[in-house]
Amino acid sequence: MIATGAGVVVLSCSDPRLNPYQILGIDGKTVKATMVRNAGGRVFDAIRTLAVLQTIGQPGTIVVMHHTDCGMTHFHDDAIKEALLQIAPEEKASIEASKFGEIKGSIREDLALIRASPLIKKTTQVVGLKYDIHTGVLSQVEETKCEL
Ligand SMILES: [Zn+2]
Repeated sequence: MIATGAGVVVLSCSDPRLNPYQILGIDGKTVKATMVRNAGGRVFDAIRTLAVLQTIGQPGTIVVMHHTDCGMTHFHDDAIKEALLQIAPEEKASIEASKFGEIKGSIREDLALIRASPLIKKTTQVVGLKYDIHTGVLSQVEETKCEL
């Protein structure tokens, strides 16, 4: 079971169908957590925020929640780059050098990135969750300490 409180950070996808407060029962009063959201709930895109939170708070647990039917499994980096080049052709070098977070593998890749980061305390509990957007079923994928 995931500990809840100010020491919990939840990283999840910004998909509007996903309501991490409701899914995890976080009411902001008796059950609290710090929310971080981005396209896909990707760790590489959130590592700066997760690292900063380690310096200004005492997050003992980082929860990464991915979901089924995620746009980042449907839209791949090449297509995103092509669309961004239409918007900002002058940023071609930057766009082509960037990762945009397509999901090819599993959530375990994101959990491994947290554990491998030198900016995340080794005592941090890392929990991976998968939410089925169609059935509402939440399942735990993995739970480890960074030091493992
Ligand atoms: Zn998503």
